[in-house]
Amino acid sequence: MSTLATYFSKRQFCFSIEYIEHGQTQLDFIQDIAGDPTCVAIADRVHADEDRAPIEITQSLISNTSVTQQNVLLHYSGKGRDISDLKQFLQEAAQRQYFDVLMLTGDRLKNHDFGQTQPKQRSRYLESVNSVMYAKQADSRFHLGVAFNPFKYTESEREAQYLKLHKKIKAGADFIVTQLGYDLLQLKQLQLFLTQHAYHIPVMVCVMPLTYARAKSICKQSVAGIVIPPDLLEFLKQEHLRDAKDAEDKVYHRAALHILIAKHLGFAGIHLSACEQPQQIRQLEQAILKFQDLDFSQCWQKYLDLFGLPDMSALRPDLIPPQSIGARQMLKYYSLAYIHDALFNSKVAMVVGRWLFKAKFWQHPVADRTILAVEHGIKSISVGCDRCGQCRLADTLYICPETCPKGLANGPCGGTSLDRCEFGDRECIHSQKYRIAKQAKQLSVLKQNLIATVPIQSRQHSSWVKWFNPAQDRHKQSS
Ligand code: SF4
Repeated sequence: MSTLATYFSKRQFCFSIEYIEHGQTQLDFIQDIAGDPTCVAIADRVHADEDRAPIEITQSLISNTSVTQQNVLLHYSGKGRDISDLKQFLQEAAQRQYFDVLMLTGDRLKNHDFGQTQPKQRSRYLESVNSVMYAKQADSRFHLGVAFNPFKYTESEREAQYLKLHKKIKAGADFIVTQLGYDLLQLKQLQLFLTQHAYHIPVMVCVMPLTYARAKSICKQSVAGIVIPPDLLEFLKQEHLRDAKDAEDKVYHRAALHILIAKHLGFAGIHLSACEQPQQIRQLEQAILKFQDLDFSQCWQKYLDLFGLPDMSALRPDLIPPQSIGARQMLKYYSLAYIHDALFNSKVAMVVGRWLFKAKFWQHPVADRTILAVEHGIKSISVGCDRCGQCRLADTLYICPETCPKGLANGPCGGTSLDRCEFGDRECIHSQKYRIAKQAKQLSVLKQNLIATVPIQSRQHSSWVKWFNPAQDRHKQSS
């Protein structure tokens, strides 16, 4: 059993301390925080797209610090990766006995390529749902985490997150790590969701001591998925200007209360971010010890007092009026669903399609290019098709997943901001999907249908041949 699995099974509250390698920073590993055990979470591609691989970083840490292979949680980011990269990672991780892995889709690549000049060069992201599905089948010894962002404030972006969480759990996730946020009512909502659905899955809550400098940098860089309302930034600024030392103490007091509230709420542990240096950890530990005898309501009240707030609502962004779904969009959905059923799902269509596309003729490059041109010609106008060769429209409410810049099909990443895409240039397609599904009473499609990864070899070929004759698919992914 992996180390984290052991802690969770014993209901031992624990910490994972995030380590992001940059420059000459070295880690002085601390084995426990206020009596609760720790492990090191090795971040993947956070600083730059070319960061050293977590396995390589871990090897250095094991050689130079007191870190051992038992107390490591590897991150695996899907940024710029395909299933073949995951396969290689899993083999290496298993060889070195690293079985705790946090599967992430990842935020936007710094050098994201939209594929405008070379479609084949478009940046791809391997979804965590698919990574978990693959890893569970490849080697059952892996104990796999997934990220979840409960800090969403419109109905569509929040519900799209929760629908995807169902899929992550269905795919086989063993534990959840939340993304960073300070509005603790959202943690209560997550607990409620897990209880309502009888999910007994351990959740680690992300906590970061929020200094004014960090808050300013998060806002300046628009870090995906983290909400720092302007009033909060101003509050931290004034606090810092009044007395920098006192402000620093309060930063650690709030982080300690955040941790204690999570503990009172029954969460399994803490994912500690931007707090890996021994003096930072000791400062945090002192604050935990100071407040550890407070009960839940006292911690909650003290947390609010230290932010100078009457309630949590001031930690939320200004809400925008909810988007509604237009009649045209619904008409398009119903029309495409009707056409799909008639041409691709009906008995007649299957008989004709199987006969027609069985012919070896379609494997000839000219025929392949011609049928692709016809398919793309029709679908690029109607749905923005990008020739993926494995059409998933029926599982995505006829919104093409290729119109998400990360190409995500199973649901949103954590980076939306009030329904806006992390890339800033469009509404998140998964919020749109949610509204259509709700209106058409098809929410179960978004909750249950696990959508397979598109093998790179399938791209730039027609999906029709494969749809009718999946067994003869010559672009099948090797596994
Ligand atoms: S469309 Fe949604 S899921 Fe895709 S990158 Fe943008 S925010 Fe993430």
